[in-house]
Amino acid sequence: MERLIDLRSDTLTKPTEKMRRAMYEAEVGDDVYGEDPTINRLEELAAEKVGMEKALFVPSGTMGNQIAVMAHTERGDEIILESEAHIYYYEVGGITALAGVQPRLVPGKHGIVNKEDIEKVLRSKNIHYPETKLICLENTHNRGGGTITPLETMEKIKGLGIEKGISVHLDGARVFNASTALQVDVKDIIKHVDSVMFCLSKGLCAPVGSIIAGKADWIEKAKKYRKMLGGGMRQAGILAAAGILSITDMVDRLAEDHENAAKLAKGLSEVNKITIDLSTVQTNIVAFSIEKTDMQAPAFSNQLKKRGILANPIGPERIRMVTHNDVNADDIDSTLDTIKSMV
Ligand SMILES: *Cc1c(COP(=O)(O)O)cnc(C)c1O
Repeated sequence: MERLIDLRSDTLTKPTEKMRRAMYEAEVGDDVYGEDPTINRLEELAAEKVGMEKALFVPSGTMGNQIAVMAHTERGDEIILESEAHIYYYEVGGITALAGVQPRLVPGKHGIVNKEDIEKVLRSKNIHYPETKLICLENTHNRGGGTITPLETMEKIKGLGIEKGISVHLDGARVFNASTALQVDVKDIIKHVDSVMFCLSKGLCAPVGSIIAGKADWIEKAKKYRKMLGGGMRQAGILAAAGILSITDMVDRLAEDHENAAKLAKGLSEVNKITIDLSTVQTNIVAFSIEKTDMQAPAFSNQLKKRGILANPIGPERIRMVTHNDVNADDIDSTLDTIKSMV
């Protein structure tokens, strides 16, 4: 069968050969007893990498974010989110169903909010009001198109949080894409938040798993919530072995995904009837409009599929393409040629 060019998501990445070997050879134990040496090594490595006291391996990014919200709040609290934040948009209403908190949404520009936007929705003390306990940021921003929140913005929001006694959590599913694009150590991003979640399973190619990190006592609390949600795993060192390689071997190559995304975006901008805002293409996500063609996004995506290219519609007339380890520069050329022939 001809190989498909799969641009639906960086979650589609397959574990590398080296990961599969490490998984086979992983030393394991029961992690609920704290006895899986490979998990323990991954958590130490992850905490060190992001500059936090402790880290915890969790089955998915969604569970990691939900645990984080639960560990920062009490039922009835309010949390502040960008209006298209993953935690609000794509996590099945978990913050209300599981944490019992109410979302307060702040619209951003391509997903990016600033301190002033947040300050406007802060409440005074009043018997009628819920307590605002948490601000959630997302860097890079998924629905924004992989956009980056600048460090100065994060620093100001953290300053506001300190002033008002509100914690800041970073949904950093793709935080290594942000650090790569900004050419900074990831610690320089994460020092502006109280906790972070990042995915091992997206651009970093692990088959399963995410990390949450924060202060030691907060991680103790988070561990209880992980167990509550059914995320206490046993010989999961098999999975952690791949996650270790995500951190040690896969971060530096993200720059290649960004180059491919930039090449794709530039090529698309030169195609008649395709509209793309190049300023939003900052990392590995390329979102564009086909509004000027006579096709709707689902039909466009079907046409691409027939030609061996997979891409997701993200609106009636919008298509998203994501670059990753299993897509190379030649694939980008083929994709552009195909789209040119279609429109
Ligand atoms: C993918 C993603 C998640 C969730 O990760 P899963 O492992 O798919 O549950 C959370 N936040 C953002 C911004 C994401 O892109």
